[in-house]
Amino acid sequence: MSSAISNCSTQRSNMRGLLVLAALLGAVFCKETFEGHQVLRITLKDELEISLLKKLSEQEDLQLDFWRQPFYVELPVDVRVPFHSLQAVRAFLGYHEIHYEIMIQDVQDLLNEEQREMMRSRIFQPRTTDDYDYTNYHTLSEINSFMDMLVQENPSLVSKIVIGKSYEGRDLNVLKFSTGDTKRPGIWIDTGIHAREWITPASGTWFAKKIVTDYGRDPVLTAILDKIDIFLELVTNPDGYEYTHTSNRMWRKTRRINSGSSCIGVDPNRNWGTGYGGAGSSSNPCSETYRGPSVYSEPEVKAIVDFTKSHGNLKAFLTIHSYSQMLLYPYGDTGALCVDDAELDELALKATTALESLYGTKYTYGSTFKTIYQASGVTTDWAYDEGIKYSYTFELRDNGRYGFILPANQIIPTAQETWLALMVIMEHTKNNLY
Ligand SMILES: [Zn+2]
Repeated sequence: MSSAISNCSTQRSNMRGLLVLAALLGAVFCKETFEGHQVLRITLKDELEISLLKKLSEQEDLQLDFWRQPFYVELPVDVRVPFHSLQAVRAFLGYHEIHYEIMIQDVQDLLNEEQREMMRSRIFQPRTTDDYDYTNYHTLSEINSFMDMLVQENPSLVSKIVIGKSYEGRDLNVLKFSTGDTKRPGIWIDTGIHAREWITPASGTWFAKKIVTDYGRDPVLTAILDKIDIFLELVTNPDGYEYTHTSNRMWRKTRRINSGSSCIGVDPNRNWGTGYGGAGSSSNPCSETYRGPSVYSEPEVKAIVDFTKSHGNLKAFLTIHSYSQMLLYPYGDTGALCVDDAELDELALKATTALESLYGTKYTYGSTFKTIYQASGVTTDWAYDEGIKYSYTFELRDNGRYGFILPANQIIPTAQETWLALMVIMEHTKNNLY
């Protein structure tokens, strides 16, 4: 759902300031802006309030963007409200005596700061991965250059494979970290499947560098890589990611043109086989959780399905999202326990304990359904049903203070702490090959 005001058509009093800023930043014209948009945190106290919020979310004219859906009373709802809808939403919440607070006063202020930071790292172009600015967010082409440099610098450890093409024809690149010629078990990690979750490819880039730095030095990682290959897809939804840089920072879905609708895109995390079409996904192309016209309709999803099947020996499947600070395992489509619930739960405890040990970042964990909300057709349910036991979804920082617009100075701490959890899961996988 595109719900922003375009600066092509809107004259505002601070237009001049914006133009100066746009020129300074070299920003592309017609980029959507979010002046006056607020993110509200709504705390619900009972089922009635949950159903009221669900009704509110169905009012398309309000163009609300739910960063966290209403499902459980315990989990507050975060919603971005466009300037033109603020009064109506406040009146609705006030009338029903639903409690809320303002989490982000003006979304555009945060985005301007993010752009200023990105300009800082544009001053010079890195020639090696040592020079790459891991403390900043990067465009698709910058991340692609990073991958090529990493492969060039570490030809015996890293290679790049193209597993398919996106809807708009971009390469779907996967980094393969391998220390042997023979076919080995594999661990899959993907970041950036939801376009606006910028912290995830930023962390993934840091992981890639960490692997080449630690191999041969860190005994735990070395032992893992001596037995198992790691596959890392950094920008799993490249069309969407590019679009967040050029046109709309708040874009989540793919960029498919939906026949019979003016709304663009499919939620690539509702497009998988297990539970496809169930509650916790939408049949409305304008919804942020639109499941798509058919199962595996998205080439970005289908490429991973085909890769996984042709590999045939993946042992862990880790898909990385933001935000909410959670570690989730199957299932999402129903409240049913998966067969390995006890083992996955215990491993999640170990992983989140390791994560918290670095900076005190607290995670919750459990099945997707029980921990966040009902979601059908999600990656990890499919991966688990494919026989990949260690299937987890990460929801990285934060808990809603900045949401999807996590300041760049949190990239390295987020990557560092997440790496500790990944290492726990990868080591457990190595010690429990099945
Ligand atoms: Zn996500």
